[in-house]
Amino acid sequence: MNGLFPLGILGGTFDPIHFGHLRLAEELAQQLDLAEVRFIPSGRPWHRDAPGATPPQRLEMVRLAISSSPHFRLDGREASSGAPGYTVETLANLRQELGADQPLCLLLGADAFLGLATWHRWHELFGLAHIAVAQRPGFSLLAEQMDDVLRVEAEARMSSDPQQLQATPCGKLLACPITPLDISATRIRSAIKAGRSPRYLLPDAVVDYIQTHNLYR
Ligand code: ATP
Repeated sequence: MNGLFPLGILGGTFDPIHFGHLRLAEELAQQLDLAEVRFIPSGRPWHRDAPGATPPQRLEMVRLAISSSPHFRLDGREASSGAPGYTVETLANLRQELGADQPLCLLLGADAFLGLATWHRWHELFGLAHIAVAQRPGFSLLAEQMDDVLRVEAEARMSSDPQQLQATPCGKLLACPITPLDISATRIRSAIKAGRSPRYLLPDAVVDYIQTHNLYR
């Protein structure tokens, strides 16, 4: 054990940030003894349409959402770069900044994990960080839901002991139960577009920001 608490990394489009993201970060921070969770909003995503809000607006919504949590931090490196922002490159940068010994832990919802084998240079991710996968309603983490390549990697790396994340800087996979919240940014955007209120699916400060800036109409 090297005694360093892992740094959690939660990437996402956050278009907008909602309570599904925030509970994931809060519950994994506790389960895994994370030193902090870095929220890293993406730049222009490579795998989907352009977000409804601009990168500065998505950054601001995350800032508003996490401002009262001392163990959450906003990291604007991807959103301010203008490039797509590949996770493998972000992790390599963090590894360089924080040193070889610091455990890093990428936090993913089950849907994101099931698509991992399509990510740019995905095989390198485990050489840079651990991965903790949180349950998400509608997505099963059973092995038969995974592509063959992902299943092989998952079986080799799966651990059930959060302490393992402190024992090594990278390379383990953990599946973590969290309070299931069936909330998605897509459905929040659709509700707003249809003139329905999204309140109580995301922090009030973010709802107010969306209204003030007339987003997702
Ligand atoms: P969209 O609907 O626009 O695709 P989203 O709600 O899935 O967005 P993202 O910003 O794409 O949100 O997600 C960032 C990360 O948070 C991903 O790893 C995703 O799996 C996870 N996540 C998002 N919502 C939830 C949720 N309700 N429960 C668990 N994990 C979630």
